[in-house]
Amino acid sequence: MSRPLSFWERESFFSESDVTIVGSGITGLLSAIRIREKFPKASITILERSPIPFGASTRNAGFACFGSPTEILSDIQSMGEKEAYTLLAERWSGIKELLHIVKPYDVDFKFLGGYELFFKGDKKKYEETCSKIHYLNELLSDLANEVFLIDDDLDELEGIKNAIGAIYTPYEGQLHSGKLVLKLIQKVHSNGVIMISGVEVHQIERSGDTHLLHTSMGDLKTKQAIVCTNGLSATLLPDLPVAPKRGQVIVTEPLPSPLEWKSNLHWDEGFYYARNIGDNRILLGGARNVDFTGESTDQMQTSDAIQNELESVLKKYFKVPASTAIEYRWAGIMGFGPQNEKGYLVGKTDTEVIYGVRLSGMGIALAPIIAKKISEFL
Ligand SMILES: Cc1cc2nc3c(=O)[nH]c(=O)nc-3n(C[C@H](O)[C@H](O)[C@H](O)COP(=O)(O)OP(=O)(O)OC[C@H]3O[C@@H](n4cnc5c(N)ncnc54)[C@H](O)[C@@H]3O)c2cc1C
Repeated sequence: MSRPLSFWERESFFSESDVTIVGSGITGLLSAIRIREKFPKASITILERSPIPFGASTRNAGFACFGSPTEILSDIQSMGEKEAYTLLAERWSGIKELLHIVKPYDVDFKFLGGYELFFKGDKKKYEETCSKIHYLNELLSDLANEVFLIDDDLDELEGIKNAIGAIYTPYEGQLHSGKLVLKLIQKVHSNGVIMISGVEVHQIERSGDTHLLHTSMGDLKTKQAIVCTNGLSATLLPDLPVAPKRGQVIVTEPLPSPLEWKSNLHWDEGFYYARNIGDNRILLGGARNVDFTGESTDQMQTSDAIQNELESVLKKYFKVPASTAIEYRWAGIMGFGPQNEKGYLVGKTDTEVIYGVRLSGMGIALAPIIAKKISEFL
């Protein structure tokens, strides 16, 4: 509910700013950093609806990823080779860009590599995918050498059950998503950006040469409004094809002995994924394809259907004690097209609001690219 601001509040937190960014996920934070670099003297404010960022950026799996072969092949089929390649090239350059903005050790970034796994029953799919690895490596040869390697002996995947084959890439990284967002928040603060948390923006109006933001704490005038609300954009950007899609995750308690594998694992076109957290916890997530309709929501709670599926997959594919307890469960909201289309949207509305949204399941790699594009509109 709106309440009157004091003179002091109006003159400080809510004074007219040059740029106001809505949303303090990685896209909003990186945009503020890029805009500050370009305009050292601009006044920049970030408005965030929650006490801490609360969309996808602190609720993801922390993969800084190229993607898995079946996911890329499926993207090529749905988007065409050129568009799928561009997205991959941007992901790769986004990861490198991110590592210029934050130091790898500050965010626990490690290039531990990644495996796409194929399980019993997937033999035909494995063989078909293997037959396309040469094509994929040729396609990606401008980006990196031998991106994918067929790994039949599975030596390094002790600890995984029922796998019949894998395709390895050394170009997958993983990081600590909480540390990343915290570091970016510290960076925007040290860059003189005003960040106000707990303020929801209800509407953005064009008013002469400025934008007027109607917020839960009153109105704020800004020369340029920028929306970085990803899957939660329906209210502020109703004309854009962005739909909220929920992603869910489980994390085990510490296992009695260290994991035999440490890397990013994907299977089933990236709909399922797992990684180590440290030496002895497994994070497992995905399964949105089990209930596309139920997971097309902006509600942050977990659902029994997906949580039960994730738990049963953990026991089916990982050598963990039967009594392994799940210590964390959470959900986050991603932004896709209404029919699960990938491909981010960056642009300007008719009312001159700049936006960078719909980062699907690859925001860690793409947000640095989108932030740069947003800054180029100014
Ligand atoms: C379970 C899960 C696993 C994932 N795994 C990975 C992964 O391993 N690797 C990867 O690259 N990507 C992954 N993703 C996707 C990735 O997290 C997102 O693409 C990325 O975080 C998007 O960042 P963003 O800043 O654009 O959006 P968000 O992080 O969603 O930030 C949007 C912010 O806007 C705020 N907001 C919304 N509406 C308003 C409003 N009206 N007023 C004020 N504030 C508002 C929200 O509170 C939120 O903090 C995953 C996502 C989920 C949910």
